[in-house]
Amino acid sequence: MSVNSEWRLAAYKELVSYLNPFFSIYLGDYCRNCRQVIGRLPEAVEESIDLLEGVYPGCCHRGAGDIFRLEGEKPERAYLAPEIVIGLQSERQQKLLPLSGAGGGSYSFRRHRDGALVKGAHCCYFAEQGCLLGDLKGPLCIDFICPPMRSDLLVVCAGDDCLVGPEHDFLFIYRSLAIISYDDRDEVERDLELFRRRLQALKERCRAFLAERQSQSLYSLFSD
Ligand code: SF4
Ligand code: SF4
Repeated sequence: MSVNSEWRLAAYKELVSYLNPFFSIYLGDYCRNCRQVIGRLPEAVEESIDLLEGVYPGCCHRGAGDIFRLEGEKPERAYLAPEIVIGLQSERQQKLLPLSGAGGGSYSFRRHRDGALVKGAHCCYFAEQGCLLGDLKGPLCIDFICPPMRSDLLVVCAGDDCLVGPEHDFLFIYRSLAIISYDDRDEVERDLELFRRRLQALKERCRAFLAERQSQSLYSLFSD
């Protein structure tokens, strides 16, 4: 990676580092209870399963951490910039070296509707303690929120979907990643600041919503 473009990787990691604490404080327990969460989907009865082996990975299935597409962006901006991808891959290798063998694994389940035995593999960065990547996660990992999660956040924000963003583009993150990938440094800094403010506004809504209801967890409030 050229020295001139290292700031793009730094900006990418900065955006992920803003999000990680938000996910762990407000959304982490959704993902730790993924099967209960997806049980709220209309298709849940038809898609119900018995887990036979391993840990159910939720969204963290094989390959998910290595998808660098920016869905919905113009064709020439539809992937994270190559220099960011190269930088991410190189830093991931260094980070994971001492943890070799900690991530990945497999699982299997029996699907009720047809009795099929389904086998699957975890993302290679998925471990017992959660994602191993920290601020080196891929775009899909920070961008997707499932429908129950999104509908709860919309309740928290009184339906403000301009703040929450669409299900497949939480907080309009793809747009920010396209700016980080392809625009000049001033524009990237402006967008990072806007993103930080948007996230701060969402955090504030979550904090106030929980405080009013004297609860610690959106997941618990909405799953009762
Ligand atoms: S985002 Fe939703 S579907 Fe994905 S792991 Fe979390 S709870 Fe499960
Ligand atoms: S990189 Fe991390 S968050 Fe993304 S799919 Fe893999 S384990 Fe999940």
